[in-house]
Amino acid sequence: MTENQLRVEYQPHVCLKSGKITGFEALVRWHHPHRGIIGPSDFIPIAEDTGLILPLGDWVLKTACRQLKTWQSSYPSLVMSVNLSGRQLFQSDVAERVAQILQQTHLSPQALRLEITESVLMQNFAEAAQRLKQLSSMGVRLAIDDFGTGYSSLGRLRSFSADILKIDQIFIRDMYSAAEGKEIVQAVIALGHGLKMRVIAEGIEEEYQLESLRKMGCDEGQGLLFAASLKPETAAILLAKDCQW
Ligand code: C2E
Ligand code: MG
Ligand code: MG
Repeated sequence: MTENQLRVEYQPHVCLKSGKITGFEALVRWHHPHRGIIGPSDFIPIAEDTGLILPLGDWVLKTACRQLKTWQSSYPSLVMSVNLSGRQLFQSDVAERVAQILQQTHLSPQALRLEITESVLMQNFAEAAQRLKQLSSMGVRLAIDDFGTGYSSLGRLRSFSADILKIDQIFIRDMYSAAEGKEIVQAVIALGHGLKMRVIAEGIEEEYQLESLRKMGCDEGQGLLFAASLKPETAAILLAKDCQW
């Protein structure tokens, strides 16, 4: 895997109140010379096991920060979300690495949201809380990703200094097909808001899901209804169109 086979794509986050793009999530893809495009779920776990995730993660972070800096000249309030794996989070110098990349790319820490999956936070609760505190004190925003799948102890959620709760796409998919699906989503939104967090719904594919989430007061959304992950030049076209959903 060489860096020139890796590409970062960008999927919009949309404010459900205004219907406008608030920012993007950076999602890495591997353009394999023989096997075509390989998704992150197929190579991030291997990169984690081999330790390759550290240079790869730094590269994604730097690429996404640089991209946001370019977009911010026309859209100053845009923010960028970047996924941070367990191995990255548990590096003792994670805060220094992030600070260095922010400095190199001249990006304000408030414009960066780091997403950490709930299950990673639960692997080593005390250390995760400490690392998140360091990152948060730098001004970086923190999101708990795939919430609802990682068996969080609810009492511990408060200790994570997280600003954002991302509801896993499974709950959005099952909102009308599973028993009490809608009630569960409503309860997670209330939980997030009760803890003064912004709530983002992942995996919005249908208009009726969007309308329900809007009525429930969910803050932001992401999903194929708005756009899939896009090459930077396509994401720029979407921004220029000033779409409103
Ligand atoms: P994630 O962070 O939860 O990202 C959301 C995933 O849901 C993405 O899959 C996205 O393409 C997909 N998605 C978005 N909207 C919809 C929708 O409406 N329906 C459905 N079914 N799926 C939707 P992707 O890009 O395959 O990424 C999978 C996971 O790989 C990510 O989940 C994240 O945990 C990880 N990942 C991606 N890029 C990176 C990275 O740079 N570093 C690290 N550490 N992990 C990454
Ligand atoms: Mg994510
Ligand atoms: Mg997710």
